[in-house]
Amino acid sequence: MARWLPVLIMALRLTSSVHSGGANAQTPQDPKHPDFRPTPEVPAMPKALMKFPRTRITRAKFPVVDFHLHGAQLRTAEDYQKMVERMDETGIGLICNMDGGFGATFDRNMQVGAPYRDRVLHFARLNFEGINEPGWSDKTAAELERDFLAGAAGLKINKVLGLDLQNKDGTYIQADDPRFDPVWEMCAKHDKPVMIHISDSYGRFLPIGPENERYEAGLWRSSPEGNYYRTGQPTPDIIEKARENMHAKHPRTRFVNAHMAMLYYDMDKVAALLDKYPNADVELSATVQDLGRAPIMIRKFFLKYQDRILFGSDGNPGRGVDEFWIPHWRFLETYDEHFDHPAQLRSATGAPLHGRWRISGIGLPDDVLRKVYYANALRYLPAARASIERQLAGR
Ligand SMILES: [Zn+2]
Repeated sequence: MARWLPVLIMALRLTSSVHSGGANAQTPQDPKHPDFRPTPEVPAMPKALMKFPRTRITRAKFPVVDFHLHGAQLRTAEDYQKMVERMDETGIGLICNMDGGFGATFDRNMQVGAPYRDRVLHFARLNFEGINEPGWSDKTAAELERDFLAGAAGLKINKVLGLDLQNKDGTYIQADDPRFDPVWEMCAKHDKPVMIHISDSYGRFLPIGPENERYEAGLWRSSPEGNYYRTGQPTPDIIEKARENMHAKHPRTRFVNAHMAMLYYDMDKVAALLDKYPNADVELSATVQDLGRAPIMIRKFFLKYQDRILFGSDGNPGRGVDEFWIPHWRFLETYDEHFDHPAQLRSATGAPLHGRWRISGIGLPDDVLRKVYYANALRYLPAARASIERQLAGR
């Protein structure tokens, strides 16, 4: 050992100077995280040495409705054509594009997407500009109504509500803010779902450090961005409580809570939300890395709440079949064990940044799989039923 020590020390110095030196030089100090220090990037995940049986999967067993896809890259007819080819290849029947936008952007998406409307639906967004000015609510609800009449399949809300939108005095705007009442009621009036992503992955609210498994997996190695610990932003309990108030106050509005309502750190909380609010459903995107760690518990959950869970991927047209789509099918359809999860984010080394581990499948029976893949989503998307039925018949 002694003869190798100098070499080892030299090697360590070299790596640390390459990594932290380089990062220090490039990373501007974030005022919200004054103590932040860059740490070296995580290495690639090692390959498992044990052999595990694998179910052969090329496409999803039934046509999938992806209730949560980010289609901002869909700009031209050619983009749509490529997306539809990718969907056919992996078995996706229909996607809900969360990036339909508002105003002129929404109109353009509807226009370019018109020939593909049996495969791609657009959700509208809100324009938050001027939210602190009088008249924002009425103006916004009116624009939303225009979008619904022009064919928007629903409304998408992202996590800026609760975490970033601020009042003039610097306090944060939550989902139960009365300014949103006319918006939620407009969705009820037109019977359109609200796809709502609020709060965030639980580890993002905890300190950056080795005890945080998201840090361990590779988040916040070169920048503290996306970590909310002691930034002054609201904590999950505040955001979660406001969401409950919203569900209670608008019983006629149907909310699909993205990412298992960001409560998958405690499945009892997901169950409590679903038990208490009949107008709440959940969508599973970006949770598979965690759900797949406890396949027995999660299988029971899916069986119990089989009418309340929608499939979503939070993916985009660039995601590959083998690295992204098939791991979703493998998780839901099979009992395969210890496989790579469909990581939302990867480091430069390919390491999955939201969980440095592998997952196992929950082997859903066909009747439940059909509900999660398409039937639950079709309750919200009556116009898509014919398309899915055609695809079922064509298989
Ligand atoms: Zn999203």
